[in-house]
Amino acid sequence: MCAKKDIKKIVSLCKARGFVYANSEIYGGLSNTWDYGPLGVLLKNNIKAAFLKKFVQENEYNLQIDTAILMNPKVWEVSGHISQFSDPLIDCRSCKTRHRADKLIKELNLGNFDDMSLSEMSEFIKNNKIKCPNCGNVDFTSVRNFNLMFKTFQGITEDKKDEIYLRPETAQGIFVNFLNILRTTRRKIPFGVVQIGKSFRNEITPGNFIFRTREFEQMELEFFCKPKESFKWLEYWKNFCKNWLLSLKIFPQNIRFKDHSEKELSHYSKVATDIEFLFPFGWGELWGIAHRGSFDLTNHQRVSKKKLEVFDEKENLEYLPEVIEPSLGLDRVFLALICNAYEEENVKEETRVVLKLHKFLAPFKAAVLPLSKKLSSKAYNLFLLLSKKFQLVYDETGSIGKRYRRQDEIGTPFCITYDFDSEKENTVTIRDRDTMKQTRVKIEEVEPYITDEICF
Ligand code: ATP
Repeated sequence: MCAKKDIKKIVSLCKARGFVYANSEIYGGLSNTWDYGPLGVLLKNNIKAAFLKKFVQENEYNLQIDTAILMNPKVWEVSGHISQFSDPLIDCRSCKTRHRADKLIKELNLGNFDDMSLSEMSEFIKNNKIKCPNCGNVDFTSVRNFNLMFKTFQGITEDKKDEIYLRPETAQGIFVNFLNILRTTRRKIPFGVVQIGKSFRNEITPGNFIFRTREFEQMELEFFCKPKESFKWLEYWKNFCKNWLLSLKIFPQNIRFKDHSEKELSHYSKVATDIEFLFPFGWGELWGIAHRGSFDLTNHQRVSKKKLEVFDEKENLEYLPEVIEPSLGLDRVFLALICNAYEEENVKEETRVVLKLHKFLAPFKAAVLPLSKKLSSKAYNLFLLLSKKFQLVYDETGSIGKRYRRQDEIGTPFCITYDFDSEKENTVTIRDRDTMKQTRVKIEEVEPYITDEICF
């Protein structure tokens, strides 16, 4: 169970082995901002590939697009993000730190903020003498809304009219291209559009490593369907998403569905469910699955005056499709997969740290290891040959046992050892990360063996 794992050990493994680095570290870092190192990039790319494989390549309904981070600010006005994408905040007058009022109330289990207005929250915090989590004083400003979008300027002047935003979700890039996609692909409802890309939110309480950051990557699907079929599709995508996680070896006991209460719903949702993951620091949202209704298309049609309705020939009816949106944070699922895969085992009275990632996700599919430096050149040739097919690593330093452990720690599913028999018999041993068993395989069979094993 992830709840029993030590997040500190997981974070230090990520830093030490080049999965994740603190951003701008030589200048003291930038708080809650992280960079992905060489192994992190490989893992991230493999997660994206696993997502695209199941959500686009093997799915008859979905397409993928890639839209710009910067958009016409009108988009954010119409989508409701300028007026409503905010968190209720209070400032501590003593230590000047800023906090989310709803979280303070919720975390202390003092009451239900669901039905409270901003002034009621202020009153509640005052009456219950809630302390500042930073300095312990009871001296807060009143609660007010704080918009989460990052603002910047386009062009050389810093004028109000040049203000633009970094997108807080990738979804709007899909909605404003709805007509383009319809025209150029000749798709009929139902169909979905996937986008993977960066989003930015000026979060007040970022933290828990890469769980909540201000710059993050999302993998979103906007699925357009007939209104009367929308709840059927909501169920379909909820199950689809859950099964995708399970097929990547996420343990069933580490995930659960959690429905949003009415107050928790974002301004665009009719109903919403999260898939939560049991992180070492507790349950947290992994995948938000929202029924957005026709909120976005209705508003974009009204303001842009472009007709976004589709025509149903069978029913002789024009209508605006409704949208089911599964939205997954790439950084969050990265963290979930690592937490899920991290194991410490006792092997011959030593602790073996192993990342039991799905083989498809592993940064390196195999390590090629010559048993002795005398065998280096032949082993290296094998590495070069197999590198045409897979991302591999070559390692000839240290004892073979140490080299196996190094690969276990970063989740490499196979260690291919080139030994003295290899020269005579044209075979190698393949050691399995999870069972630690070794199998002797003909060199020409190594490629089909790995291909078969990493299949997703
Ligand atoms: P939370 O309540 O955790 O802030 P949210 O409900 O605001 O999340 P959504 O708007 O539903 O999140 O975003 C969809 C997904 O994007 C989330 O389920 C999460 O995986 C990811 N995500 C959202 N905000 C962040 C963030 N600040 N850092 C990393 N991932 C995020």
